[in-house]
Amino acid sequence: MDREIAKKRIDELTELLRENSRRYYVDNAPVISDFEYDYYMRELEDLEKAFPEFAAPDSPTRTVGSDLDSPVGPNAESQTREGFVQRPHRYPMLSLGNTYSIEEVEEFAARADKTLEESFSYCCELKFDGTAICLTYKEGKLVQALTRGDGVKGDDVTENVKRISNIPQTLHGDFPAEFEIRGEILMPYEAFDALNREREANEEAPFANPRNAASGSLKLIDPAEVAHRGLWCTLYHIPAQSVTFATHDEALSKAAEWGLPVSDKRRICTGISEVKAFIDYWDKERKFLPYATDGIVIKINELSAQRILGYTAKSPRWAVAYKFQAEQACTELLSIDYQVGRTGAVTPVANLAPVQLSGTVVRRATLNNADQMALMDIRVGDWVNVIKGGEIIPKIISVALDRRPAGTEAPVFPSLCPDCGTPLVRSEDEAKWFCPNRDGCPMQIKGRILHFMSRKAMNILAGESTVAQFFEAGLVRTPADLYSITLPQLLSLEGWQEKSARNFLDSLAESRKVPFERVLFALGIRYIGETTARGLARHFESIDALAQASVEQLQELEDIGSVTAPVLYDFLHDARHLREIARLREAGLQFAVEKGESQLSDALAGKIIVVSGTFSVSRERMKDIIALHGGKAASGISSKTSFLLAGLKPGPEKLKKCEQLGIPVLSEEAFMVLLPSSKEQEQMEEPTLF
Ligand code: NAD
Repeated sequence: MDREIAKKRIDELTELLRENSRRYYVDNAPVISDFEYDYYMRELEDLEKAFPEFAAPDSPTRTVGSDLDSPVGPNAESQTREGFVQRPHRYPMLSLGNTYSIEEVEEFAARADKTLEESFSYCCELKFDGTAICLTYKEGKLVQALTRGDGVKGDDVTENVKRISNIPQTLHGDFPAEFEIRGEILMPYEAFDALNREREANEEAPFANPRNAASGSLKLIDPAEVAHRGLWCTLYHIPAQSVTFATHDEALSKAAEWGLPVSDKRRICTGISEVKAFIDYWDKERKFLPYATDGIVIKINELSAQRILGYTAKSPRWAVAYKFQAEQACTELLSIDYQVGRTGAVTPVANLAPVQLSGTVVRRATLNNADQMALMDIRVGDWVNVIKGGEIIPKIISVALDRRPAGTEAPVFPSLCPDCGTPLVRSEDEAKWFCPNRDGCPMQIKGRILHFMSRKAMNILAGESTVAQFFEAGLVRTPADLYSITLPQLLSLEGWQEKSARNFLDSLAESRKVPFERVLFALGIRYIGETTARGLARHFESIDALAQASVEQLQELEDIGSVTAPVLYDFLHDARHLREIARLREAGLQFAVEKGESQLSDALAGKIIVVSGTFSVSRERMKDIIALHGGKAASGISSKTSFLLAGLKPGPEKLKKCEQLGIPVLSEEAFMVLLPSSKEQEQMEEPTLF
């Protein structure tokens, strides 16, 4: 290859890998498959070998993909934007050399054979598809949890890790005084499916796969929220510098004795044919595991041999990952449905000829929006390539154009609502078409009622078919109608018995106790998810105060940007919504936070405080403390800001703005002096669930 062309391609590949690494590790929203990414990485490695003069020291081939950055993109959760405290790793946290070919596993074994004089064995393990974690235990207590970060330093996610139920905070047995242990944080399929169902119901972008969901969840700012995500941990490596054992397997068996979650699905193999048998076995069996795996890790078991083989800048020479290829299938596109969501957004859904993929039968896949359909040039009757399984939720990745039957036609995206026939509209900045018939479109009405009743909202016992039944019977048009339903009305409907009717009415009665933050979420205001609703409820404390806020005041709040603020404002100034809120209030729902023990003092009443930097507690906890004493936390400095509460390394822009506007800056110590003394210490303790 010509040098100039090689240089150009190296630059192109470097850029492409950097961009996709960012999407994968930081945004948790990859747009290409792992196989594709690894393919480009291999191409870059080969080119750098042939033209070493063009290999940059920070080339993606020599550096560990970093998760340290401020996220953007469809799955970036607003809570993660502020970042975590970064701490150095005692021993670098590296990646693994990987391959999709058995021949290369054999080459790995041959190289080890050649270098090592003593005989050795392999420890074969599952390659868990989650996000790496490094735990430190001191005197048997969990004291620190860091993400891999850039391999040299990681984000401190200790408080979040403490909320993962199978990670012990205290060990038992003959554990060393201090040691590190590394592993993976995973999201089992069940939790992943539940999370995505919920995100879709809230019209948030679903996570592409359990790995991205695990990594995004681990970086949530609110530890209590992490506890609800169903994360799970498996540990697989104690750095050899941290403890003294003869083999890797012995170290893991010991860790299990101390109470740590170590996988029992590992096997000691004495030769490469046993390694291959292990790979073959798990390539089939992994489909029945409750969590995602993307390959097998083969490690030299003897720690003395590991020391001899050592490390490259990016990975250990004593281990290799054999990766399974994502399963793919080709099937026929039978028809396309157009579904109307509760906000009126119309989503095209592909109905497929049933096809077996990664242990499940796939019948439907989302087509996202009209633009994506046009981009793929997809047509009913086409054969389409679908991927799914542990790796990715059902997704059509391409059309097999060479199999296109004669006479197919490009589908015409409907111009009328498929449910109520109203002409669809699409504004310039939207990817989706919308049905504007908010109050008359049955799908939207039923969707809103279903959302209102959902577990995370009012938690009313009933599902889709009940809502449809109420709707058909003309009993319910808005959530407030639910509270007028009577026992005789229920008993007059098909399938209702005394017991089920009473259970339903009991759960309606229970819902009157649901706190304001969940009622606010239940209203189904566009862009107001659970976390934003909580933040709004804590800040304004009542729907009346919230309704009085101007767009500018709303925008000052964290989580509320220039898109959400006017939507929220309009919602609360629309006569129909005000009527509905009044009816719900009359039905006895909570439209204000309950005063009481949650409010410790009025020491910060009327104060608007911006928090920046890191503190002795998490920033989220600091904001709670402000709220507990009657203050309000805001995200941006303005003339209304009372003071900036600055921890270590506060944002330079914020400091500059304070100087310009003459706003005081208080340290953590100075801030604590403002609070009534007796409770300070207790408040600083972060609540734990254990
Ligand atoms: P990796 O995922 O290929 O392998 C290393 C990681 O495996 C370790 O850091 C550890 O977290 C994990 N692991 C799981 N089980 C293990 C076990 N039993 N023992 C040891 N480690 C175990 O490497 P990586 O550096 O984390 O990620 C690189 C890979 O990520 C790429 O090869 C690619 O497949 C994927 N990626 C994809 C994109 C994309 O756009 N699709 C972008 C960047 C990276």
